[in-house]
Amino acid sequence: MDWSWERIPAEYLVTGVKLARGGKISARKGFLHVKKGRIEAIGVGQPAAEGLPALAAEGMVLAPGFVDLHVHFREPGQEEKETVATGSRAAAAGGYTAVVTMPNTDPAIDNAGMVRYVLDRGRESGLCRVLPTGAISVGRQGETMAEMGAMVEAGAVAFTDDGSPVASGKLMANALKYARVLGVPIMSHAEDLSLTGGGCMHGGYWSTRLGLTGMPRAGEDAAVFRDIELARATGAHLHVCHVSTKGAVEVIRRAKADGVRVTAEATPHHFSQDHSRCRGYSPLFKMSPPLREPDDVAAIADGLADGTIDCIATDHAPHTATEKELQFDQAPFGVIGLETAFAVANTYLVEAGKMDLGQLVQCLGERPAEVLGLPLGKLEEGAEADFVLLDPAREWTVTEARLRSRSRNSSFLGETLRGRVLATFLRGRLTWREEDPSLG
Ligand SMILES: [Zn+2]
Repeated sequence: MDWSWERIPAEYLVTGVKLARGGKISARKGFLHVKKGRIEAIGVGQPAAEGLPALAAEGMVLAPGFVDLHVHFREPGQEEKETVATGSRAAAAGGYTAVVTMPNTDPAIDNAGMVRYVLDRGRESGLCRVLPTGAISVGRQGETMAEMGAMVEAGAVAFTDDGSPVASGKLMANALKYARVLGVPIMSHAEDLSLTGGGCMHGGYWSTRLGLTGMPRAGEDAAVFRDIELARATGAHLHVCHVSTKGAVEVIRRAKADGVRVTAEATPHHFSQDHSRCRGYSPLFKMSPPLREPDDVAAIADGLADGTIDCIATDHAPHTATEKELQFDQAPFGVIGLETAFAVANTYLVEAGKMDLGQLVQCLGERPAEVLGLPLGKLEEGAEADFVLLDPAREWTVTEARLRSRSRNSSFLGETLRGRVLATFLRGRLTWREEDPSLG
């Protein structure tokens, strides 16, 4: 690639690229023409415009910028783990141009002022579109409904008590009714705490072997079933977060066939790693929902491939090294994921033959944008120029030194993956570029 530009000009071409559009990667090389942050023209063959500065990205795949429906940026309250600015930097390095932040900060994002606070931090960093969710209940306490209407007016894109489930079915039903009127989805962290409470990993062979308290699949299956039935009854849009069990995939598949307004996401770790990873007691493999059994891992991949699960979301959950050095049962749940998502998905879904690259980039961009009804994730003339340059064949090893997030708690440390984000552009502006010469 020719990276001789000091600054990205207001109008330019990217040439020699394979375009990812409509679930396909073009075999013929094409171009993208960017003007003042928007896509002026796009197509295969030679551009009509002449004499413009051109970025020669010979043979690279040019795809829409990725959209992550599920990140924890920890601001306000736990800035030692991540801030909106450091999280946005990690997002750009992972190919993301838009992220949806979870409201389980301290204090929680449960009113219009807090929604505006997150939006302002996002605008200041300028590396990624930061789209906040609001809490369903005041303080995420699961008792009183938060002021959802005021939060939507302030810019909240969805509601969730994520980090915790909504234990009360009555509160969930009411939240769904309000959300339907407001035209936004409810995102469900589906977990029955009466079944999973006190657990620290999947309940099965390995939890028994390791002497750790298990979180049974039924805790997720039953909660997903309840929320889907409430969505069916209210006609509201339910989005199921981080699906991890084969049972949940089956319930969602059936509900979609019935016409229930349900969408779903799955994380890269849930379609690539299973509970045997916990055998060394490393808290880097402790997350909620937990790593499950091999047949769950396969069911998640199949669900993504057949569209039962709409999209990939990272559940990027930064924690300090000190916390992740605690004993397994004491350490907090969660792993970071923004910077490894594309490579993990490319390695475990595309290279493994579950789907092709065209489908994968849809799961990372177009489909999550559709879940929220946002005009993002597509390469079209007139659209804002959010795009990534990818090398799907490039191998790299995940190391702490490589990660841009403020935290380093990745479950893929030491793993060699295939697929690299070489550059990310937001509204035509460069927000990330791979500078490692061994990768360049
Ligand atoms: Zn969650």
